[in-house]
Amino acid sequence: MGISIALAGNPNSGKTTLFNVLTGARQHVGNYPGVTVEKKQGQCVSGTDEFHVVDLPGTYSLSAYSLEEMVARDFIVKEQPAMVVNIVDASNLERNLYLTLQFMEMGTPVCIALNMMDVAKKRGIDIDIEKLSALLGVPVVPMVARTGKGRDDLLKTVADHAKIRTKSLKISYGRDIDQTLDEMVEKISSENFLTERYLPRWVALKYLENDVQILEMGKGQDLETHAWLTSAAQNLARHLDTTLDTHPEGMIADQRYGFIASILKHGVMTWSRDQNRLELSDKIDKILTHRFLGPLLMVAVLMGLYQFTFAYSAVPVAWCENLFAWLGGRVDSLLSDGLLKSLMISGIIDGVGGVLGFVPLIMFMFLGISFLEDSGYLARMAFMLDRVFRLFGLHGASVMAFIVSGGIAGGCAVPGVMAARTLKSPKERLATLLTVPFMNCGAKLPVYALLVAAFFSENQARVMLIITLISWAGALLVAKLLRSTLIQGPATPFVMELPPYRLPTFKGLAIHTWERTWQYIKKAGTVILGISIILWAMMTFPRLDNSQMGDPVQAGTRQAAVQTAGEENVNRASAALRHSIAGRMGMVLEPVTRLAGFDWQTNIALVGGFAAKEVVVSTLGTAYSLGDVDPEDAGSLSERLQSSPGWGPVTAFSLILFTIFYSPCFVAVVCIAKEAGSWKWGAFSMAFNTLLALGVSILFFQTATWIMG
Ligand code: GDP
Ligand code: MG
Repeated sequence: MGISIALAGNPNSGKTTLFNVLTGARQHVGNYPGVTVEKKQGQCVSGTDEFHVVDLPGTYSLSAYSLEEMVARDFIVKEQPAMVVNIVDASNLERNLYLTLQFMEMGTPVCIALNMMDVAKKRGIDIDIEKLSALLGVPVVPMVARTGKGRDDLLKTVADHAKIRTKSLKISYGRDIDQTLDEMVEKISSENFLTERYLPRWVALKYLENDVQILEMGKGQDLETHAWLTSAAQNLARHLDTTLDTHPEGMIADQRYGFIASILKHGVMTWSRDQNRLELSDKIDKILTHRFLGPLLMVAVLMGLYQFTFAYSAVPVAWCENLFAWLGGRVDSLLSDGLLKSLMISGIIDGVGGVLGFVPLIMFMFLGISFLEDSGYLARMAFMLDRVFRLFGLHGASVMAFIVSGGIAGGCAVPGVMAARTLKSPKERLATLLTVPFMNCGAKLPVYALLVAAFFSENQARVMLIITLISWAGALLVAKLLRSTLIQGPATPFVMELPPYRLPTFKGLAIHTWERTWQYIKKAGTVILGISIILWAMMTFPRLDNSQMGDPVQAGTRQAAVQTAGEENVNRASAALRHSIAGRMGMVLEPVTRLAGFDWQTNIALVGGFAAKEVVVSTLGTAYSLGDVDPEDAGSLSERLQSSPGWGPVTAFSLILFTIFYSPCFVAVVCIAKEAGSWKWGAFSMAFNTLLALGVSILFFQTATWIMG
């Protein structure tokens, strides 16, 4: 019976005209079963192919709000036409593509009949057909239905592409919605919920959109899953309401339009004549995403963010440090010397306190980033960086993964690695997975903050910007290296969502900032606590024999070392640390790390940092309090480092470089292995990154000391 095609499109896009051009006299009119919507069907022939054409009702959307929309989407689901020919009014592209996206999200094979090309031309709109087709991933045929122009091309294209299932489109709906969608998709897939007819992601979207028809169907199929999905959707709705003052449906529509706007901005649509009907967002974008001004402004925004963070967090960070110092002092005077006291002070208070001390800094950073994100500027940064990314064999969708990992500062590679799931090409995905850990995650921040405050106090924001630029440059170069050696393959096209600019609400900012800060605090209270205790044990055992060296435990706490100050005690403490497991590890590594300027105490911290990067700071604290620092000087850790022999700006920057590049933390490695589908890549990431870091640090340290001395 030939190839079945369904004509779909907005009202007045020329659907009826096209239908007549295709079928001529071979058509008849009836009704869709059970409803009063008119159904026109007809036949047509082109070459050896025969087509059966159905004219769907004209709609703007595929929600369940109107009878027409229901009829259109039910027809597609039940009759499964070989191809949906979506008629799009070329003179009104932005609005018409909204429907196209929804067909693509359903996963139906779609072909665009780009109608009214004559009208578009008369209005001075120039459309790059090939680009549009490549960016959307569907065939596009230009037409003038009224004169029949493009008819044969259209039929030929349909015959060529029919039955090839369009890769279903996955638009990103922003972090909150995407996360919920992923969870819902997992549930839907595992329960096979409505999946014999619909794609899981589409069902999830309909639950978020409160689609009456799908909700009804779902209730009938499996009440328990239905309830689970409804409550997930409600939770999200509540969250969006409080944080962004919007609701899922509105946000979903915004992102769809944003996606379209971004396609059109990629040079698909150009005006040969001036158009003065630019929306406010477009006007702002004219400047903020300008080819030359845009990147400059972006750097300025970053600089402002770092300035803001360092300037305003300095005072509360000092309060926190004092608080923990006071706490340590209290414990010191309350407990008698012994293992318990050492554990409490060196293990718990120094370890967890070292991490919690940076909470104000992290909070200010997150506040700034939440502002960028909620206002819509973060998406523009990704949009601009996209151009750069392609040069290095990455994909525009990698940008978000980089930013989530801490591309600006204060992210985490674990969700970053997860975010790489949106990449469709496995090779671009792998390259992204392996390079996101170079970003400045929240755990590396305290390390930078400590070293920058101690050795570059004049230029904190500028050094932070340099650190950021180095991490990006390193990530991009490594990506390029990998993509031209181990993971070669072609680049795939990309379009990203540009939501309209919004003024962030105070409440939204507060909630987003708190959510992330709380994550950080929670981690310090659980994972970091555990690791600190383990590291403390590694730095305390095996203990030096009393007869050998006096009482190591007494000397084993910072306070004890400080209070009973004296050369002898310090030597004893240092010897005890060297004798411990961790000390031995640090010393075994020293001959190599010396080349990069790291002594054995720093090595202990770096080994600990593999468990979680936050630990670097706290371990340095413990190691230096146990080590050969002059106890008279014992103040905050940064003061202690400043006064330590062998420490200076060069060593500090070498350590910063090492921290940027060396092995991802343990959790991130596990995630990389899982997402890449092989432990091989997890191991590769550890080994490669550590060697790279060592190489970079040694090169820097040797060059810098040679130049200076
Ligand atoms: P429908 O609502 O989608 O069925 O749209 P129609 O087929 O009824 O077309 C709406 C109007 O657009 C009619 O006046 C058509 O003559 C006109 N039209 C359709 N296609 C074209 C075209 O390619 N160029 C121009 N200039 N007008 C067209
Ligand atoms: Mg019509």
